[in-house]
Amino acid sequence: AADSFIEAIPVLKKIHQGGYEAYFVGGCVRDHLLDRVVNDVDIATSATPQEIKLLFKKTVDVGIEHGTVMVLHHGKGYEVTTYRSESTYTDFRRPDQVQFVRSLKEDLKRRDFTINAMAMSVDFHITDLYGGRQDLERRIIRTVGDAKERFSEDALRMLRGARFAAQLSFDIEENTFCTMLELSYLLQHIAVERKRMEMDKLLMGRNWAKGLEYILQAQFHIYLPPFPVTEDRIKHFSKMNIQHLTAEQRWGLVMLPIDRSECESALKSWRLSRKQINYIKKLIDLYNWRTEHSWSPFIVYESGLDRIQQAEQLYAAVNEMDYNESEIHGIWRSLPIKNMKDLDVNGRELVSWSDRSEGPWIGTLFSEIEQAVLEGHLNNSKSEIKKWVKEWHQK
Ligand code: ATP
Ligand code: MG
Repeated sequence: AADSFIEAIPVLKKIHQGGYEAYFVGGCVRDHLLDRVVNDVDIATSATPQEIKLLFKKTVDVGIEHGTVMVLHHGKGYEVTTYRSESTYTDFRRPDQVQFVRSLKEDLKRRDFTINAMAMSVDFHITDLYGGRQDLERRIIRTVGDAKERFSEDALRMLRGARFAAQLSFDIEENTFCTMLELSYLLQHIAVERKRMEMDKLLMGRNWAKGLEYILQAQFHIYLPPFPVTEDRIKHFSKMNIQHLTAEQRWGLVMLPIDRSECESALKSWRLSRKQINYIKKLIDLYNWRTEHSWSPFIVYESGLDRIQQAEQLYAAVNEMDYNESEIHGIWRSLPIKNMKDLDVNGRELVSWSDRSEGPWIGTLFSEIEQAVLEGHLNNSKSEIKKWVKEWHQK
């Protein structure tokens, strides 16, 4: 688990050689102490972004306005962020200008939760000024400093709290939770994109039902785009086996009660991408179809194996059944063609077998051949298709 840190040590050492401080901070320290997989390590430093750029040959300005420079080292990118303090807030959102500081203590103080406010040195010594370790042991989420102040500075932190509850299966400390309930309305000031990013992580959390429970209890859902969760639904979610479901499937699952005609606009208001929206809509349609039918060769052919599997997984989850892929695979394997291109005929041949000139009839004929092949009335072989086409022209 320490590998990602060890790989990054030369980066921190180089910053030290320049005469500055550098530490691992935030989520990576938390996850390391929890023995969870550490994906990307974040580095905090007393050096300014300009000073970092002078120290390293290869850097990318990924968020220089927030004090973050990406340093490239051995093919990996490391986000190096200058120590910052909280500057004044206008409307409950992150400040637009940041205040660089030279002390680690100040930087840790502006972080959201105690478990996210620890630093680790190159020799794995932990700096824990706000009781983060103890809160990790007790498995609780607590703000650094006064909850009311911290949530008023940046209301997104409240939603982040629910997100960490879902990811870590932690409880939100009582006073922190009461303040969330009191200040939930401040979420209306937060950009939807930021809320969506937290919601994506919450939905992917291994205890997403717990995160949703907090959303409902703290009444965040009132200040979010459409989000039809209820006590009963969450209870149901917590019984489902959804470990293997993708983000799109989980969004689909949450949105199931929304009327077909309003689903598109609901997903849009969450600012999901066009591609995701189309995918989720299709998934919901297939799910709804499945609630009344069993899979037929034609629908498997039309929608493709992948989508049918995804919809079936959703259906299995909702009905608390084991997902059984062998039936779908069986249908897929027995399809005489997997797509239009597999037909043993092309447009040129269709024209040459008739005395008509090119026109829309070719498309019509193609779909009729496709259907006949799929339904088993026609073999997918050129000679048989030719015979069938001659008869078609006579009709
Ligand atoms: P993940 O593993 O999901 O990325 P993370 O803890 O790294 O979790 P990030 O959103 O990447 O979460 O943020 C990195 C760190 O920056 C946090 O651990 C926290 O210390 C700090 N942070 C991020 N967002 C805020 C915020 N809105 N207010 C205060 N501190 C924040
Ligand atoms: Mg992170």
